[in-house]
Amino acid sequence: MIIIGCGPVGATAANLLGQAGHAVAIVDQFTDVFTLPRAVHIDHEMMRLFQNLGLAESLLPHMRETQGHMHLGADGDVIRYMGSAGKPRPYGWANDYFFYQPELEAALRDGFRRFGNVEFIQGVRATVEGDEVIAGNRRLRARYIIACDGARSPTREGLGIELEDLLFEEAWLVVDANVDGPISFPAIPSLPAGADPQQLSVMTCDPRRPATIVPGRGAHRRWEFMLLPGESETAIVEPASIEGLIGPWLQGCAYEIVRTATYRFNARVAKQWRQGPVFLAGDAAHQTPPFFGQGMCHGLRDAANLSFKLDLVLRGLAGDSVLDTYQPEREPQVRHVIGAAVAAGRYICELDPAKASERDETLRRRQREGQDIATAADLIAPYAQGLVAPGAGERFVQPRVADGRLLDDIMPRGFVLLSRRAVEHPLIGQLGIAQQVVDAAFDTTGALGDALDRHQAEAVLLRPDRYVYGWGTADHLLDLLSAQLAPQELRLHA
Ligand SMILES: Cc1cc2nc3c(=O)[nH]c(=O)nc-3n(C[C@H](O)[C@H](O)[C@H](O)COP(=O)(O)OP(=O)(O)OC[C@H]3O[C@@H](n4cnc5c(N)ncnc54)[C@H](O)[C@@H]3O)c2cc1C
Repeated sequence: MIIIGCGPVGATAANLLGQAGHAVAIVDQFTDVFTLPRAVHIDHEMMRLFQNLGLAESLLPHMRETQGHMHLGADGDVIRYMGSAGKPRPYGWANDYFFYQPELEAALRDGFRRFGNVEFIQGVRATVEGDEVIAGNRRLRARYIIACDGARSPTREGLGIELEDLLFEEAWLVVDANVDGPISFPAIPSLPAGADPQQLSVMTCDPRRPATIVPGRGAHRRWEFMLLPGESETAIVEPASIEGLIGPWLQGCAYEIVRTATYRFNARVAKQWRQGPVFLAGDAAHQTPPFFGQGMCHGLRDAANLSFKLDLVLRGLAGDSVLDTYQPEREPQVRHVIGAAVAAGRYICELDPAKASERDETLRRRQREGQDIATAADLIAPYAQGLVAPGAGERFVQPRVADGRLLDDIMPRGFVLLSRRAVEHPLIGQLGIAQQVVDAAFDTTGALGDALDRHQAEAVLLRPDRYVYGWGTADHLLDLLSAQLAPQELRLHA
């Protein structure tokens, strides 16, 4: 396997494929991680991924568990609340965490360095030529190549793959600072019970200057400010300008600027995510405005989705065609979230005071009438097609089981069959599917039994990325998976 680009997505793919025992070469043009301010938010699904990579413990000290997102209207009061305070945690982790991207990337690099089968080629630009990758004076050859080479992806360009532009472009200033004390928020009249602005990503949709303030890990705070029409991208990063923008939030509290940068937030999706042996993943395949903090999360989902399928194919347990389920699964989910981020971006970036107050009324009404999502976790739609049985494709819960440990800490990696009774099926041995009977001794909280009851199912089959393959009888699910994985020439069934 060759991975081009060692941002968070490439590094995660290297961890996953390295953990699965495959020979991996990962190439990056630079030796150090990218240090300009970028992602600060991940959700529970990413923590579960890190948990399964054995990295959660080392990452947790660099994470701040938070309460999610809140948007304030032109009058400074709540127009949208997607907070998790006091809500259940079905996936085993808090819904939202804030962190500092360069630290996460460094930890992911340390992660794949655990595997002797992963080679990191640094400081060299990689170019794809057919099924070869030219990296400096080396010609590398592998059965598959994953291009995680970022939004400008030279690989995507070289392959002539076009990006569909979803027509959103706004310039924003990003400021990272270490702050010695809490942020000063004006009074928020309708603050929901239990919600604490110090623990929320707060978007102020003020038509005079839309802005976000985010609580990072430790003393780190992130601000993002929309540039107003005609404003200069160089003047706004001058120290006096930065001080004028963040000063009102600090009320004299000491601070140290870590980094500033301006970005153009875009929404784009590649038209083709695979060409022959080459797959696009992460920003190379899609870019989203960061209003729900999901850009990198999408990329890590790509890595998790593609890696387990590549593992099956490379081990001869599935035909190459299973890799063609990558784009049909990932693209609709990515487009759904980009659509939501663009819709939010359009109302957040509203600069007309009259339209802003109309927007505030509309959003408050939606929230009152329960038409909005409860937390940002609800944005992530199930996979409706691909390597899934009908009616499944959602993320599976992760309760504490047996001795109080989280489900994934007890079950081995790979496919997992949770069923009311033990079953025998050839696929269990062939794929190394871990089987667990859901009884009172294992399912101590009753969460697994409840899930089976809700689906009127004897069994649930989980994929290695912890999305649900299917609900039903164990035999039926295993037959279905067997048929989906096996190409004509490679029958898994006796
Ligand atoms: C202001 C801002 C805020 C954001 N906030 C969030 C957030 O809160 N949550 C979130 O999930 N996402 C967020 N994002 C998005 C997130 O930062 C990106 O989605 C993520 O960094 C993409 O990761 P990647 O690995 O795909 O690409 P990159 O991080 O861009 O990595 C690409 C790598 O490829 C390498 N490369 C490129 N070309 C070559 C070549 N030819 N040969 C070798 N190497 C090459 C580069 O050196 C780089 O290391 C934000 C982005 C911005 C700008």
